[in-house]
Amino acid sequence: MKIEIPSYVSVVMNVLCENGYECFVVGGAVRSALLSFPVHDYDLTTNALPEQMKQVFRDFKTIETGIKHGTLTVMSDHHPIEITTYRKDGGYSDHRHPDKVEFSSALKEDCARRDFTINAMACGTDGKIHDFFDGRKDLENRVIRCIGIPEERFDEDALRILRALRFAARLNFSIDEKTSDALLSSRELLKYISMERIRDELTGFLQAPCAPQLFARYMPVFKTVIPELKDCTETEKKDMVKRLENSPADSYVRTALILNSLAHPDQIMKRMKFSNRECDIVMNLLKLKDRETDTPSAIRRIIRDLKTEFARYAQFVCAMDESKDQSAMMKMYEEIVERGDCCKVRQLAVNGNDLVAAGLKGRQISEALDLLLEEVIDQKLSNDRTVLLNYLKQKEKADCSASE
Ligand code: ATP
Ligand code: MG
Repeated sequence: MKIEIPSYVSVVMNVLCENGYECFVVGGAVRSALLSFPVHDYDLTTNALPEQMKQVFRDFKTIETGIKHGTLTVMSDHHPIEITTYRKDGGYSDHRHPDKVEFSSALKEDCARRDFTINAMACGTDGKIHDFFDGRKDLENRVIRCIGIPEERFDEDALRILRALRFAARLNFSIDEKTSDALLSSRELLKYISMERIRDELTGFLQAPCAPQLFARYMPVFKTVIPELKDCTETEKKDMVKRLENSPADSYVRTALILNSLAHPDQIMKRMKFSNRECDIVMNLLKLKDRETDTPSAIRRIIRDLKTEFARYAQFVCAMDESKDQSAMMKMYEEIVERGDCCKVRQLAVNGNDLVAAGLKGRQISEALDLLLEEVIDQKLSNDRTVLLNYLKQKEKADCSASE
């Protein structure tokens, strides 16, 4: 099988070849193409040194941010294409970054520094595949296997431990036995990896279809990343996995399902450097998890308080509690949207200015809006300007006479 390379990529490859250099598509693009998956990013590898690349692409728009590591980004037909000089990585004393980047003149060396056999295939402009480490065979057998000795590869860069799990979860591949053993025995090295990188890998992992099974199987790895998991009882862990299995491949839903059984989920998310927005969404799902969901009023109240899409909430609570009926919940939600039911303060037929005009001040205004919304959600009042303002007038009268 040959790989089709789109013209905006082959144009760039040809420029290098015409100047006497080698150039290959490498890594994820070759893997995805062989699996007949759509390819979004084409990474290129070349024997041209960075300065030579700059010279060759002097008439192209280029971005030089990665140049120290040998990467030049070339814009081709509005697509950014990263081209990296062949590298062989020197020692790794911090378990993450090579001590020095050494350029190489051999494609095989560049492939050998890559993490897994399925990520180390290269393809030339002729579509021919260069596969030094039996990546094709592993792709056919659906196996994630380190290139070289797994212990050494994880010791060089411990992030590869999580990358192996992410690729296995995404592709539904098994992990070769030696790679699997090393991944477990090297797990403590993850402490050398920055939280940002761990968070990104974990998020990518949780978005993958087969994450639940791998989460259960490789729990010790996840315990090094989230030590609070060690406080869970066996039953809690079983429930957690079962809920993950009931969930869609959504990292917010799955993060919430994991954190649900742990103490101080907010602190865990902060420590793992999740963004404020990610924390808000997950914490909000957890806060609303025990809400009643059986009536339109209950659903409207959830919509009022929700910081993310309702579908995500429905997925989360249904994964938590199998007896809940997700399609009934979604049907109620869709009917609410279709009718245009008022669920948010901004949908009320009155606004803050109306209440100022009615004589309310400061906190009274937001309290009155909240009260009106509550009554409208419960359909005790219709969302009509006159009705709402009258209600406030009556209430004020009643409050005054009560305090007399
Ligand atoms: P994705 O679809 O997730 O982007 P990818 O294979 O393109 O998959 P990248 O993280 O973009 O993965 O990396 C591109 C390539 O660089 C990989 O295919 C692999 O060959 C190599 N690579 C990336 N990270 C590492 C690493 N930590 N150790 C060794 N090789 C790596
Ligand atoms: Mg990529």
